[in-house]
Amino acid sequence: MSPIRSVTGMNDLLPPATTTWSSLERLAEDLAGRRGYWRIVTPIVESTELFARGVGAGTDVVEKEMYTFEDGGGHSLTLRPEATASVVRAYFEGGLHDGPQPVRLHYIGPMFRRDRPQAGRYRQFFQFGVEAIGESAPEVDVEVIELAYAWLRKAGAPGISLQVNSIGDEVCRPAYREVLRAHFRPHLDQMCADCRRRFEVNPLRLLDCKKPACAPFQAGAPAPVEHLCEPCRVHHEAVLAGLRALGLEFQQNPRLVRGLDYYTRTAFEIWSVDLEGAQNALGGGGRYDGLAKELGFADTPGMGFAMGIDRLYLALRRAGHSDLPPRPDVFVIPLAAGSAIAGQGIAARLREVELDTVLSTGARSLRSHMRAAERSGAPCVVILGEDEIAAGEATVKNMADGGQSRVRLDALVAAAQAIQGQADHVRQAQRGADVGAEELDPGTPRRKAG
Ligand code: AMP
Repeated sequence: MSPIRSVTGMNDLLPPATTTWSSLERLAEDLAGRRGYWRIVTPIVESTELFARGVGAGTDVVEKEMYTFEDGGGHSLTLRPEATASVVRAYFEGGLHDGPQPVRLHYIGPMFRRDRPQAGRYRQFFQFGVEAIGESAPEVDVEVIELAYAWLRKAGAPGISLQVNSIGDEVCRPAYREVLRAHFRPHLDQMCADCRRRFEVNPLRLLDCKKPACAPFQAGAPAPVEHLCEPCRVHHEAVLAGLRALGLEFQQNPRLVRGLDYYTRTAFEIWSVDLEGAQNALGGGGRYDGLAKELGFADTPGMGFAMGIDRLYLALRRAGHSDLPPRPDVFVIPLAAGSAIAGQGIAARLREVELDTVLSTGARSLRSHMRAAERSGAPCVVILGEDEIAAGEATVKNMADGGQSRVRLDALVAAAQAIQGQADHVRQAQRGADVGAEELDPGTPRRKAG
């Protein structure tokens, strides 16, 4: 029988990569929380209709990339390809629309799209996203963009570039669509099949097609910002002024339209210039004032983003970031027969002072236990041999210099803390040279003195 393998495009995340991954998630939660974006968790599976209406029929995501299946009751369900529609549904279903507005929410979790897998594009991937629902003021757009930018910058993302645009609303977009169609119509037969198909349904998408054949016709296309109605223009100017006031550098990108139908006004992406080609977007977002109504709820504005954690991780790795291997502080070896329980007790005391402690297991030779200790990377090893147990002591070994001494059990915690403190110091100094080092090492809460 051949061994079972994982599903194409769905990756395991293994240590030590998960240490960096967890740091990125903690950083996201921390920054979001400090701005009042509380965590929301919605189901991974939703009614297919939620995405068909909320993401938009006619988008690649809905047309080609959803994992859809029937449950027992003949109800069509889908693994979520993104989370905004789910969050908006939950906002109404959970009654959050009744309280003070806007409601600020953040999420972290897996999304599923049956796209062609390649570097930076997977079938299960992770997003950190936020949604500010119930407020249409431009300062909300600025706040959301600043949060995305802060996360990437603090994580140490290399060469990030903020791209901003406005794509208007249901007042000015219909006329703009006609202007666009008039521009592209004469060239349609030379453009790709996707563009020909989108010409009627969603002509804005012709602006961001990445196929070389379509590039010459995009160059002179009319920009959406030149066709905004007065309220959209005022909103857009306020967003740009807000970004400038915060000192955020950005580029106005008239071809940025986003792939999803429900966006109005502000659209933005953040690119990493170090990631190549179409996969250079670390994330993006925008205003979706039309979404709630599209889903059958009261007309309610919203603004949010989704950042790709996989992409950020890839960008960090390419820029030379190395994962910090998970490592306990103390490795305890209950060597004497029957000392396993004593070992547990000692480990419990060490953990009480926040020393991460791992116990060696099994009846093995000291050599074999020590090999396991070395592999664990712990800077401090505690050995409970026959003699030590008889004397109410333990041997404490400093793995950095090989020095060891016998200490009484009541002095053990202090001895282990001293060794761990030295090791932490060395580690911090080493990490100083690493990409995004300080920000990515919130780790386990570092110990308090004493
Ligand atoms: P979207 O929801 O399409 O606007 O995507 C927002 C961000 O999620 C992108 O910029 C990527 O960082 C990430 N992302 C989207 N699709 C994938 C995918 N298939 N694999 C990995 N990351 C993805």
